[in-house]
Amino acid sequence: MKSTMQDVPLTVSSIVRHASRIHGERAVLTARGPGQISRVSYRELGERAAQLANALRAIGIRGDERVATLQWSNQEHLECYSAVPSMGAVLHTLNLRLPTEQLTWIANHADDRVVIVDGTVLPLLASALPSMTSVRTVLVTGTGDLAAVEGCGKDVLRYDDVVAAQPSSFDWPDVDERSAAAMCYTSGTTGHPKGVIYSHRSTWLHSQAACASNALGIGHDDTVLTIVPMFHANAWGLPYAAMMAGAQMLLPDRFLQAEPLVEMIEAARPTMAGAVPTIWTDVLHYLRDNPGHDVSSLKMVACGGSAVPRSLITAYDELGIRIVQAWGMTETSPLAAVALPRDTDSPERSLQVRGTQGRVVAGVEARIVDDSDAEQPWDGKSVGEIQIRGPWITGSYYQHDSAAVTPDGWLCTGDVGVISADAFITLTDRSKDVIKSGGEWISSVELENELAAHPAVRTATVIGVPDDKWQERPLAVVVLDTGRTVTARELSGFLRDRVAKWWLPERWAFVTEVPLTSTGKFDKKKLRRQYADGDFI
Ligand code: ADP
Repeated sequence: MKSTMQDVPLTVSSIVRHASRIHGERAVLTARGPGQISRVSYRELGERAAQLANALRAIGIRGDERVATLQWSNQEHLECYSAVPSMGAVLHTLNLRLPTEQLTWIANHADDRVVIVDGTVLPLLASALPSMTSVRTVLVTGTGDLAAVEGCGKDVLRYDDVVAAQPSSFDWPDVDERSAAAMCYTSGTTGHPKGVIYSHRSTWLHSQAACASNALGIGHDDTVLTIVPMFHANAWGLPYAAMMAGAQMLLPDRFLQAEPLVEMIEAARPTMAGAVPTIWTDVLHYLRDNPGHDVSSLKMVACGGSAVPRSLITAYDELGIRIVQAWGMTETSPLAAVALPRDTDSPERSLQVRGTQGRVVAGVEARIVDDSDAEQPWDGKSVGEIQIRGPWITGSYYQHDSAAVTPDGWLCTGDVGVISADAFITLTDRSKDVIKSGGEWISSVELENELAAHPAVRTATVIGVPDDKWQERPLAVVVLDTGRTVTARELSGFLRDRVAKWWLPERWAFVTEVPLTSTGKFDKKKLRRQYADGDFI
């Protein structure tokens, strides 16, 4: 029997239309520099998106051609988010922290036709542009000397000029909800980066899931600060979710250090924010070192991308800000699981739950599989790879033969961990980071978590290094808080009561900073290379 329900496609244009018609006066704020915040309403944003779509048609964008962005998080980028998929083209967010060769490779692989670039990163584009063979046109937002990219054989135009010249309405086409809306490449720790293509339908469903109160609970009274860049897994899907909810947005542009972030939080008073743990660690230390700032508008911060230390969660609790840990990846749009305790949980249980990677949100299913592909019980002990499936989980990579998915349709996440009887996932490692010592796994995540609880430790990263006897042993790379001293022996003593004795690292390195990946996580691959020769104590 067929249902009587209408088969209305789930499209990005419907999200944009909803924001501008229903929540037209709500604002998108962009930090433009110290003390400067610009404002546009969702109604105006809808008009600007129509102008951009007209401009892109005028420069020849047809069908599902790719429009790339090399942008920070700002109003112009949100205009691209709104216009490009809505007109049926495909938004390709390029990561501006990638090296030139990777940028070029990705743009050519995606067959990008246009690059909409922020004036502040023109020199980066200039080095890649001559080899970006499919790119015909460059639109430059903001200021910036066009001379940097002129002479590269591409049409170079000022974004504001071409947009302003266009009408502010556009007849958004009906697009198939299963067609491509946006694409994003994972950073490719081995081999070439891999492209994930989001559909209109996956984007729509993911946005609804993010808004649900069992997930991030974004509502029309919120102002959402998206610190996670808009080139990284669509800023965790927060922009589309905020538009759907009618939440205001605060976009930090390139001002991603603790001081300007705190300043913009004080000025624009966001209610929630999303960023990786390293950012929240920096903000915490900034607040401690510079007392008197008011960040009390923030009720909740979504945190993920790497494991959130429990000590970070409790430190923010003391500030009245609730950290909610979420888990996902570019391949999962990215929201897959959220760690929310119940109101009835004891304080201890609540903290324990918040320290996990969470339970999958409705729409996503999870399972755990060991090395021999045998499904494991959810008992909080049986370790294996977490595999997931759902309508916003990728089923393959773009023009890539990597076997991302099992024959029965589950995405192999490469994340290793356990699932408890009540469905909370706890990751112990990424498969490429696991430490196998004498045939047994040591969880780098758990060691990092416990080390971060030491008052003198600012951050701790644990990697496996070769060992003659045990094949691999953990090396702890520690950054201490300013002005603090502590010895390896003291830290080892601190860990002794907290982890199994055979997990205790014998190798330590004290450094002033740990290299970060292009998505702001500790770069363990680089660390492993750096310490391959045994440069530690
Ligand atoms: P990249 O591979 O460039 O880091 P992603 O953002 O897609 O790009 O990374 C996804 C990975 O980040 C996940 O597979 C997982 O290993 C890690 N991750 C994400 N959220 C969490 C979390 N809450 N706890 C631990 N690891 C996480």
